[in-house]
Amino acid sequence: MDSETQTYCDKIHWLGHDTFKITGTKLLYFDPFKIANADQKADIILITHEHFDHCSPEDVNKLIGKNTTIVGPPDCLKNFSAKMKEIKPGDKIKIGEIEIEAVPAYNVNKDFHPKKNNWVGYIVSMDGFKVYHAGDTDRIPEMKKVHTGIALLPVSGTYVMTPEEAAEAALDIDPRLAAIPMHYGSIIGQASDAEKFKEILAGKIDVVIKARSE
Ligand SMILES: [Zn+2]
Repeated sequence: MDSETQTYCDKIHWLGHDTFKITGTKLLYFDPFKIANADQKADIILITHEHFDHCSPEDVNKLIGKNTTIVGPPDCLKNFSAKMKEIKPGDKIKIGEIEIEAVPAYNVNKDFHPKKNNWVGYIVSMDGFKVYHAGDTDRIPEMKKVHTGIALLPVSGTYVMTPEEAAEAALDIDPRLAAIPMHYGSIIGQASDAEKFKEILAGKIDVVIKARSE
């Protein structure tokens, strides 16, 4: 891993499943779930879709402070009373200096996440770097248009991509710095799925397997 990758990966904290905390100018959370430490309130909470393990009111409410904005699809945001921005695939919004683009996330060979639901992944630009959180998705053609430094990709299979499919997706996206596997180790998927993803991409894309943090 080069030092630039290290610098950005150090700002990305994996809290299990699809939950990430990004520590930059602002404190960002993706899909807060099973939050154990809510000492610091979030500036921005990004929710990909309304399934319970992504849109968890109990966990989101722990992180809401007076400066928090929640971003997500309308079917999820109906659970909250805070500052909110509704999004759908293709939307681009700005919160302060942070640029947020909502991108499509859906299944192509199963029915858990239909395209018509308008659920999303996100590309966030903060402090000069970009991170893409794919949400619950299969390998979809839109991924070829994603430009990012770091790509967070689901690898468990069943509801999302298998490690093999996720590796193909990573090659489509070709993140400038690294890919980080997610969606394993809690509800579904094993550490071996993340290892397999890394193995397939060896010599092609830098894969960083994050240790779980709080
Ligand atoms: Zn889901």
